[in-house]
Amino acid sequence: MNTAIKRARSETENIEARKRRAYLIALVCGILIFILSWVIRDPGDVFIQVLYPLFALVLALVFPLVWLGTIPIRKLEIFILSIITTIILGRLVWHFHFAGTIDEQLIMLAAGHYWAIGILIVVGFVMFDHNKGIAAGLTIITLSVLIAATGVWVDMRAGLASGETMIYLVRIHLFLVLLLGLTGAATTLRDKLKDALIRADVLQQLVNTDMLTGLANRRAAEKFLSEQASAVARYDRKVSVILADVDYFKQVNDRFGHAAGDAVLEGISKILLNAVRDTDLVARWGGEEFLIVAQEISVYNGKDLARRCAKAVAGTPIAGINVTMSFGVSELTAQDSVDNVLSRADTLLYRAKNSGRNRIYSDADQVPALTDFPELSLKAGQSKNIA
Ligand code: GH3
Ligand code: MG
Ligand code: MG
Repeated sequence: MNTAIKRARSETENIEARKRRAYLIALVCGILIFILSWVIRDPGDVFIQVLYPLFALVLALVFPLVWLGTIPIRKLEIFILSIITTIILGRLVWHFHFAGTIDEQLIMLAAGHYWAIGILIVVGFVMFDHNKGIAAGLTIITLSVLIAATGVWVDMRAGLASGETMIYLVRIHLFLVLLLGLTGAATTLRDKLKDALIRADVLQQLVNTDMLTGLANRRAAEKFLSEQASAVARYDRKVSVILADVDYFKQVNDRFGHAAGDAVLEGISKILLNAVRDTDLVARWGGEEFLIVAQEISVYNGKDLARRCAKAVAGTPIAGINVTMSFGVSELTAQDSVDNVLSRADTLLYRAKNSGRNRIYSDADQVPALTDFPELSLKAGQSKNIA
């Protein structure tokens, strides 16, 4: 569960970092295009002469915002798309309303600016999800139609717009709508696929996770153990298997209630997780029984690990309740089946229970020994201790 969350988080961070890099490159390209267009401009083009240096400056100011990453990527994307849309639609207004007749502007519009609008529509889908992409695309097309229609209207009244130009403009806008539709359909598939993958991932997690503690459940633990058994048999690895059971847990429920019992189980899970390495597994094996599978450690170190766990559990009151645990520690050998090693660990745990609880027994004990921390043994009669 924890690793799945970590993995999802690092994937999101990766995607964000990649997006930021792409936006930085796009901004640099934008700045260069504005500067280049300014340098090779038509001397009569006041729009480029006055506004392009300003646009280049605006993009240059956005650059550190993207670079530093202080603004959330979502807000940044809305901001960038709004700026670029304003710039491109501003240029469209110039062509339709200030630069001369539409017949004269047509080639320039069709060859340059409507392509830019087409790209804007696609960018909306890249930046946002399906619905927001459609909303952004529809807004851009609507504004473009309004700008074109008002420009054409003025020229038509002055008798300056040819029928051919009108048909051309209608075709261009139909093409933009088609582009929006196609991109929308493609992103629907993309989003559906993404949702299906997320659902599959969530289901996989649910099937393998204990709902109360968030630990791996018995099913996931059995799978992990059998993988470890194969690795031990093939590569001669060392793996310790530790079964741990809360002492007198029934009394926790009886005296403090089931909810307090649940809280104790959750607290114990955190303590055990803290005690092991990232590559080890802590699972809820049954009601108040836990399984630890520790990689690359022999039974001696496994016993040390169990001792650390026992000490941490006994030394940390959970919801004000002191509990102890008993442990059976066994080592997975090359000849072992999963059942064998579990049954040995279970026998050792049973022995720990029978000889007084709050104890650790392992394969390595020639003579069953008491734990090395008698000071942690519970004293009967203390109101919140269970013994
Ligand atoms: P021992 O020291 O011998 O292990 O004694 P114990 O009382 O811990 O053992 P026993 O098996 O008699 O009791 C286990 C109790 O754990 C009984 C059951 O009600 C409780 N239990 C199992 N699952 C849960 C759970 O999810 N939440 C809570 N609160 N209690 C649970
Ligand atoms: Mg118990
Ligand atoms: Mg039990």
